[in-house]
Amino acid sequence: MDSTRPTEATAADLDAFAGLDLLPDPTLVIDQDLCVVAANQACERLIRADVAEWIGRVPLELVHPDDLPIVLSSFTTISEKDYGTPIEVRIKDGDGTWRLMELVGATHPRGDGHIVVISMRDLTQRRQWELAAGSPELFRTVVEHATVLLALIDADGRIDSASGTWNRQLGHDLSYIVGSNIVDWVADGGRHVFAVDLAGAVAQPHTSVFEAALVHTDGRVIPYQFSVANLLDDPVVQGLIVSASDISARRALEVRLTHMATTDALTGLANRSALVDALVRRLGVPTALPESLVVYFVDLDRFKPVNDLHGHDTGDVVLSVLADRLRFVARDHDVIARLGGDQFVLVCDEVPNPAAAARVASRIESAIAEPIVVGTSTVQVFASVGYADGTAATSAEGLLAEADAAMYRVKQRRRGREMPTTLRVAQRRDLADDLARAVETDPAAAGLRMYYQPVVGLPDGQVVGAEALVRWQHRDLGLLGPHDFLAIAEDAGLDLALGRWILRTAIAEASTWAARLEIAVNLSAAQLADGSIVDMVFDALDREGLTPDRLCVEVTETTMLEGAGRGSLLPAVATLERFKAAGVRAAIDDFGTGYSSLVHVRELPADVLKIDRSFVSGMHTDAIDHGIVAAVVALAHAAGMTVVAEGVETDAQHDALAALGADLAQGYRYGRPIPASEFRRLWGGVPLRAAG
Ligand code: C2E
Ligand code: CA
Ligand code: CA
Repeated sequence: MDSTRPTEATAADLDAFAGLDLLPDPTLVIDQDLCVVAANQACERLIRADVAEWIGRVPLELVHPDDLPIVLSSFTTISEKDYGTPIEVRIKDGDGTWRLMELVGATHPRGDGHIVVISMRDLTQRRQWELAAGSPELFRTVVEHATVLLALIDADGRIDSASGTWNRQLGHDLSYIVGSNIVDWVADGGRHVFAVDLAGAVAQPHTSVFEAALVHTDGRVIPYQFSVANLLDDPVVQGLIVSASDISARRALEVRLTHMATTDALTGLANRSALVDALVRRLGVPTALPESLVVYFVDLDRFKPVNDLHGHDTGDVVLSVLADRLRFVARDHDVIARLGGDQFVLVCDEVPNPAAAARVASRIESAIAEPIVVGTSTVQVFASVGYADGTAATSAEGLLAEADAAMYRVKQRRRGREMPTTLRVAQRRDLADDLARAVETDPAAAGLRMYYQPVVGLPDGQVVGAEALVRWQHRDLGLLGPHDFLAIAEDAGLDLALGRWILRTAIAEASTWAARLEIAVNLSAAQLADGSIVDMVFDALDREGLTPDRLCVEVTETTMLEGAGRGSLLPAVATLERFKAAGVRAAIDDFGTGYSSLVHVRELPADVLKIDRSFVSGMHTDAIDHGIVAAVVALAHAAGMTVVAEGVETDAQHDALAALGADLAQGYRYGRPIPASEFRRLWGGVPLRAAG
């Protein structure tokens, strides 16, 4: 992931920006997206508010709407030179009064882009003096050439006099205008509000500003901004001075700017700032069910090769197609955003339960993985999807970071995983037949075996248990691992029968160990959903004379959630609860590779948490992996769970895990999976110290 986004202030910057406070003039620093990076205390005095709220935002609302074009155009040219030409712009102060400010910008390169330091000087006072020194003739010329509608009205809205612009801009004859009530020229639907605004202007001694639409003789409705100065108390005027300027152009510009500022140009999806706004809004609505708000972080895998091999145009088409697919997966009021590059975010609310949340994640993955035809080529990209719900964080950025971290864990797992079996189709078919014969007659005679891998305590390395791992000594193909035949067993509907054999065999073999070692057995999703499994396990424990606390069942985090989706009674969870009630322990296997957010650890019905080996193997080279392991250990302990680290291969990993307080470990450093007879010979007697 790109950790050096040019818009993010570094610690060094923050130090540098601290010096801004010494400057007497309001000064702020913006990045190339116009987002404020820093602002000094003089800015706070000007706007009389906390400038911290500006950081990361584009505070264009403080610029007078008519001055926006000059600000934007000078901003585009300043990026090409070091210093911009000073511009005079109206800026709204803390009182809501427009002040005339001179803005000078200076550009500095930063990361891939640049920042602009803008200092502002207040010219208001000086201009007022200049004006006071001017002549009445000058003033009349100004009025004549003004582009605004001017009128003098009384407290009831009757027009005493009006400028020629009323005729030029609205087509009405001045003789109709003068003597009429100003409210009559307001477009249908706006008169009541206008009357209220006008009454407000009469009631207070300053200038009131509001908007209303007026009707042209040709029927056009034109938006105006009204500024009404209350001079009822002025002995000369004794009325209200109305000036109204046509804001159609500004409106159009606003619409375009908002669109530009909130939309990803390529896909038309929301951009990052619109996403954060939407999240802030949703988090701001207090809800009894924060978990029903789910943020999905979608990161594409293998997108770069598409760009490299097929060109950027194809890459752009692919991104647009994927955006449409996300729109299809999402519901109407969900927010879909592209964070630039190949990352997308989906915000869903009213997600009923964790199972539904997991289903959306897998729907996103499948939608993305569909091949895409572009011209004559077909490309396929994949997505790593992680998610977090409203309980994970209270801030928009925090929630995004949680979902991002969950996505990262999913990606890690992908990297660490073996590729799917390379057996050819024909071989797979033969294997399915062989397996059916084996499972239905005598599995052991057909070569099915249980291997056992020691599980040791930390830091001493003493063997405390074993995990049962299935193998198949195939007469033609040699020793097959679970990845070679478990999926085939499932496809052939043999998985339940095979699973029963595995459980019985593991329980029987563990009962021959003299030492009180714990035996861990892996369960599939189908097994967990099978109502008879609990009774079957207790029969086996009874028959072999093994107490329930010697058995631990391992279930992956994803299985737990998928199983939960199959029926309203959450069978996977219910099965685990029944095991637990009877004293059998439950472990979450491959933890960190599933979708769930770390904060949900405590809600999973398990006593043991096994940290996936991809994190353990990355601990020394990747600070994030180290951090994840530390966080998982802490969270698991807080939830009263035992932590097992998987895939420990080196002394360094052993030491690091022991230092983090992991309870147990498993991996080649202590011993590989070995046949039952060998395991009993090595570890199945009196507990021994692990070698190494
Ligand atoms: P798992 O439950 O995560 O099992 C641990 C896997 O990691 C085993 O692979 C083990 O041989 C391997 N391993 C252990 N220590 C190390 C190490 O230090 N480095 C490395 N690189 N690998 C290590 P295996 O036996 O191939 O099993 C793969 C997966 O197949 C298991 O992952 C489990 O999900 C599944 N599986 C294995 N046996 C059974 C079974 O009897 N029933 C079911 N349902 N699934 C099984
Ligand atoms: Ca396991
Ligand atoms: Ca595992």
